[in-house]
Amino acid sequence: MNDKNSSRPVDLEAIKQAVRTILVAVGEDPDRSGLLETPRRVADMYAEMFSGLHIQPERHLEVTFPESYDEIVVVRDITFTSMCEHHLLPFSGTAHVAYLPNGCVTGLSKLARVVEEVSRRPQVQERMTQTIADMIEKHLNSSGVAVVIQAEHSCMSIRGVRKPGSETITSALRGVFKKNAASRAEVLSLIKS
Ligand SMILES: [Zn+2]
Repeated sequence: MNDKNSSRPVDLEAIKQAVRTILVAVGEDPDRSGLLETPRRVADMYAEMFSGLHIQPERHLEVTFPESYDEIVVVRDITFTSMCEHHLLPFSGTAHVAYLPNGCVTGLSKLARVVEEVSRRPQVQERMTQTIADMIEKHLNSSGVAVVIQAEHSCMSIRGVRKPGSETITSALRGVFKKNAASRAEVLSLIKS
């Protein structure tokens, strides 16, 4: 998916036209002064929100450092905002990323960068969680990976069922954190503590 998309940058003009069409369709006058710049602003916003389609987040994990440390590494409370692919409305929250090094470690900020870039795509929270876990497992060759994401979806809070404050929690466990109950309990307690 990435390879195909990376050769096709965001078409700002097409978005501007589409936003104009939507404004007309909802009964607005896209030529009134308050709306004149709206198509351009929305196009710029989408280019930013979907910038993760045009990069490979896993590139941040390519540089690793040999290290004998073999206990759990956790980076908690990585804030993000993504776009629900069903409604194109934002969902925001925090991601907690943990891994068990297997001979090498990565820079801690790289884990946050992976979360940030994976979030900048049309997403569902479930797939986002799995994508991050798979990238870390593969590129760090980790013995275990745990990713927990908690987020509020505006498509649930401002429309539809209209339940502001409800939180969706997803987790993806790999390796020893999936197989071993004690390891899983340890990593989840570190994430929650
Ligand atoms: Zn949605």
